[in-house]
Amino acid sequence: MELFVYNTATREKEPFEPFHDEVGMYCCGPTVYNYAHIGNLRTYVFEDVLKRVLRLAGYRVKHVVNITDVGHLTSDADSGEDKMEKGARREGRTVWDIAAHYTQAFKRDIHELNILEPDIWPKATEHIDDMISLVKALEDRGMTYRTADGIYFDTTKFGRYSDFARLDPQSLRAGSRVDMGEKKNPTDFALWKFSPSDSKRQMEWESPWGTGFPGWHIECSAMSLKYLPQPIDIHCGGVDHVRVHHTNEIAQAEAATGAAFVRYWVHGEFLTMTEAKMAKSGDSFVTLDTVKQRGIEPLAYRMFSFTAHYRSPLAFSWEGLDAAAQSLRNLRRLAGAGDGGTGETSAPGGADALLLEPFYSALCDDLNMPKAMAAVWDMARGSGASPADRRRALEKADAVLGLNLFAGEEHRRDVLTDASQTIRLVAPAGMKVDADVIFEKVRLRRDARAAKDYARADALRDELSAAGVTTKDLPDGTTECVLHK
Ligand SMILES: [Zn+2]
Repeated sequence: MELFVYNTATREKEPFEPFHDEVGMYCCGPTVYNYAHIGNLRTYVFEDVLKRVLRLAGYRVKHVVNITDVGHLTSDADSGEDKMEKGARREGRTVWDIAAHYTQAFKRDIHELNILEPDIWPKATEHIDDMISLVKALEDRGMTYRTADGIYFDTTKFGRYSDFARLDPQSLRAGSRVDMGEKKNPTDFALWKFSPSDSKRQMEWESPWGTGFPGWHIECSAMSLKYLPQPIDIHCGGVDHVRVHHTNEIAQAEAATGAAFVRYWVHGEFLTMTEAKMAKSGDSFVTLDTVKQRGIEPLAYRMFSFTAHYRSPLAFSWEGLDAAAQSLRNLRRLAGAGDGGTGETSAPGGADALLLEPFYSALCDDLNMPKAMAAVWDMARGSGASPADRRRALEKADAVLGLNLFAGEEHRRDVLTDASQTIRLVAPAGMKVDADVIFEKVRLRRDARAAKDYARADALRDELSAAGVTTKDLPDGTTECVLHK
């Protein structure tokens, strides 16, 4: 199977030919100052499908997703406040607490959406030295200048600056409304920002230029170059990164190293939110928790994201998500109607391979998921195919879909949550459960432990266990209870 991907750099669908035996894949990660919006999560789902398709095509993949825990200002033009410091003030906690909390929340979202974990999760705050070295290399090459508030990249010194995003240099200079400060050109951007002289930042480091913190763009260049060989085979992100963030990453990396930075740039389109925004008040937004609170399982959102091509905007609506949840249930029912794969086996490249062919060819055509899903429904209905072949084909398809079509009892169970959302009870589907009694016992056990009354805590655990409930305290502070038949 030959894979084609759309490369933003060339604006063309190209055959995928990586430079390295192990495909390097860098995806811009979250700024951990708040929960991820489901629009952000759409990007990570499409990147996950790309990674799974690469594996399917026989490649080994080294996948890196950074955690931005410093330096991302509220405006992409290097003005405004650090989002992390803003989040800390909003919640009356330290920046470090905020970073730890929202990193954990992001990892939980990823897990619940069946997104395969990256091999490396570098944190910006643990790579300050790498960023300083990269800024030094740029300084040595005469690409930087100093202003009262930081060290800036002079974009006029990088001749190809406008190429990637097809920017019109003329219009950038003319009608620009960018707040220039002491910047020489509207597109110049901060590599290192100085801490303000009148207040102390919670996150700041020494550098050859003064105490301060790195610019957001330099973080990704430094961390991607540290973990992946150049040119990086694939760099992904949201389409909103093309104009500024990725344009700046290219300028920094190529100006510092003199070599091509990335081979394939792959960008995902927006989730558009008009209706949901109207349905919510104030500045709150839809997260995966909001979805769960409405009784919709996270994988329904994964299914929903497959209804549009990753390069097309997708309009979010609760009706659309409900419909996706229903079709996921239908698909599982059809899939589960197979005979468990124990029927007569077909020869290699036999009937199941034939069934999979339209699915694979849709994937290889720049991840055409709407077409791939149509092929999956055909497969599941499988007229003419034996139940065993149909099942085998769907199992292989699910390795890319990640929809848990056959996860044993996994999808045939009920999940109940207490009011505080910190206790989760998993029970066999349809079983009559007195959840409140179980929740209460878990709460009492927590109280006993907090009061160091371990005898009482153990007694409560034994009571739960006698009632067929096992409990597990998860690192994020929630307790998971599993009720056995
Ligand atoms: Zn980035």
